[in-house]
Parts: sequence; C-alpha cells; structure tokens
Amino acid sequence: MIRIAIQAKGRLNEDSVALLAEAGISIEESRRKLLSQSTDFPLEVLYLRDDDIPQAVAMGVADIGIVGLNEVEEKRQKVDIVHRLGFGKCRISLAIPKAEEYTGLEYFNGKKVATSYPVILSQFFAEKGIKADIHEIAGSVEIAPSVGMADAIFDIVSSGGTLVTNGLREVEKVIFSEAVLIAGPALSEEKKQILAQMLFRFESVERSRGMKYVLMNLPTEKIESAVKILPGMKSPTILPLAQEGWSSMHVVIGEKELWDKIEQLKAIGAEDILVLALEKMIR
Ligand code: ATP
Ligand code: MG
Repeated sequence: MIRIAIQAKGRLNEDSVALLAEAGISIEESRRKLLSQSTDFPLEVLYLRDDDIPQAVAMGVADIGIVGLNEVEEKRQKVDIVHRLGFGKCRISLAIPKAEEYTGLEYFNGKKVATSYPVILSQFFAEKGIKADIHEIAGSVEIAPSVGMADAIFDIVSSGGTLVTNGLREVEKVIFSEAVLIAGPALSEEKKQILAQMLFRFESVERSRGMKYVLMNLPTEKIESAVKILPGMKSPTILPLAQEGWSSMHVVIGEKELWDKIEQLKAIGAEDILVLALEKMIR
C-alpha cells in the first residue's frame, strides 16, 4: 500500500484525479473525506491543501504527492521530484504597474514587492544582488500595488489576464512550474515497487497524449515514399488489401504534425484516411 497526497480542491485536484483514473486507478468518490482508498490499486489518497503537501511527504505522512513545482521550491522540504506531470503549468513572475518605465532588475532596488513566495523571491534577489523589501501576503497579491500595499508583485501568471485587469505588466519571468510527482526520502522496497508501477502507467498515458492512430489505403508501390514522409517512427504496419496492388498502412502520428503529414501522404496517393484517438501507448 502506498499513500499519495493530492490537492483537496483547487486547480490541481481535477487533473490529479484524472491522471490516476487514466492510469486505471479508481478512487472512492468521497469529496468530504480526508482519506480515501483505491478500489483496484494498492493506493490510499490523502486530500490536503497544496501548501501542506511537500511537508506531508517529507514527514512520511504521505509517501508520495502531486503538487506544483512552485510549492516544492518555496517550502524547501526534503522530497525527491520523481516525475514532471505536464499539467498545472504556470510561471512566477515579477510585475510592475504598467505605466512605470522598466530599466532592468535594478528597478527593484529599494522597492516593496508583495508575494506569497518569499523564499523563492529572496533567493532570486540575493543571486542577482538586488536589495528589495519583500512583503509576504497570503492571497490577492495582484491588487497590492493598486491599494498602495506594494510597488510591485511576484506572483503566479498563466495567461497574464489577471495582471492586465489589475493594471500590471510582467517584467521578469523567474520560475516555470508544472505539477510534479514527489516522493519522500525513505520509501520501503514495497512502496518503491508500487511507485514504479504507477510511473510506468503514467508514462504510457503521457506518451499517448496528443497522438493519433492513422489508417490509410495506398498503392503498394508507394509504401517506400510513405515511410520516408514519416521518419522517426518504427516501421509502420502494412497489410495487404483484397484489391491487388493496394495496401493498408497504420501509423501513429503526433497531433501537431497530423495535417502536414496527411497532406503529404494524400499527395502520393493515400486514400480513405481514418484518424482515430489513441488511448494508451505501452512500451
Ligand atoms: P490550496 O487551497 O490547496 O492552498 P491554492 O489556492 O493555494 O490552493 P490553486 O490556486 O488551486 O492553489 O493553485 C494550485 C497550483 O496550481 C499552484 O500552486 C500552481 O502550481 C498551479 N497553477 C497553474 N496555473 C495557475 C494559475 N493561473 N494560477 C494559480 N495557480 C496555478
Ligand atoms: Mg495553497
């Protein structure tokens, strides 16, 4: 049995639960409980505030956890980052009132900067030799300059919309974050094995993300040119069609290059192209 801490509610909760589900790990529907069990995997889920997850994992209250890299960096707990999960992407940036002229980092010397990430910010300023006054506040950081609480802010940005609404302008991107899987420093052999099994499943889920399974018919003599259009793939599956001189080709193509490849394949004579969703890619 392994215990994972995930965010009880908030931006990372849904994606964390969805990742477990995609990995074939179902958990009892029990939003109100602090702890719930998986019905089909040796896993227990502990629901916490994201701020508490690094410490819970470092202390062994949970064996592993899913949390933003930003919280891991801020909390400075002894945990290992086992895997980047690719969701909850954001950055933590310095922003100033938009009418201000920005001349570079020295701008912040002597300025008062509001943030919920004082540890990350003070380390950044120390590295850059900037002496600013860091003012820690728990929430609504973005309104601090307009109410006169600070000259600038250091806060999470994803699209930048909130900054614009508050008359602010992003001037320095300091760290990039995403959800990560963390583990405590002393897992038993049994737990390490369960973790490895989970990772294997997560990786299969990730690999299939953005991939499509493509089937098409094409003249058998064109197979060689078709294979050249799809370099980097292991050799595609080719099946003969009942009609003489024609074959069916099956390949996996990334969504980003899908239309480009399909146009090229059509140009050499591919027909009846089917594009299917790909659920898992297991290696
Ligand atoms: P909790 O109640 O668990 O303490 P919270 O209010 O601190 O929740 P959320 O706003 O739910 O936290 O954000 C959780 C994490 O989601 C952040 O720490 C960050 O890693 C990530 N995240 C991604 N995009 C954004 C965004 N636009 N704003 C805030 N957090 C984001
Ligand atoms: Mg929090």
